[in-house]
Amino acid sequence: MHELGILSSLVHTIDGIVKKEGLTEVEKVVIEVGELSGIVPRYLEQCYPAAVYKTFMENTELELITVPGIVKCRECELVFNAAANDLCCPGCSGQNFEILEGNDMVVKEIVCR
Ligand SMILES: [Zn+2]
Repeated sequence: MHELGILSSLVHTIDGIVKKEGLTEVEKVVIEVGELSGIVPRYLEQCYPAAVYKTFMENTELELITVPGIVKCRECELVFNAAANDLCCPGCSGQNFEILEGNDMVVKEIVCR
């Protein structure tokens, strides 16, 4: 599954941060997921226990924050909040956009005990 692969690399990323910062006993990770990232937060939650099983993140909690997809129309320069399945400019019905926000997944915070 797509999300499981994403989580595996997430565990790897967090492992790197934890080692670099000298953190111990991670309790919770806070992740921002962009609406246009193609990642489904619900699936991430479902896959999480399997992804962290037998890693240092086993028994940690996952908190997801959804970041709205903000795009700018290249035709009329209108900036608007876009849903991934309905990407059409409300100003000119154009379909040529620059994504300003909500296109990726970011580790927002690592909470330790
Ligand atoms: Zn437009």
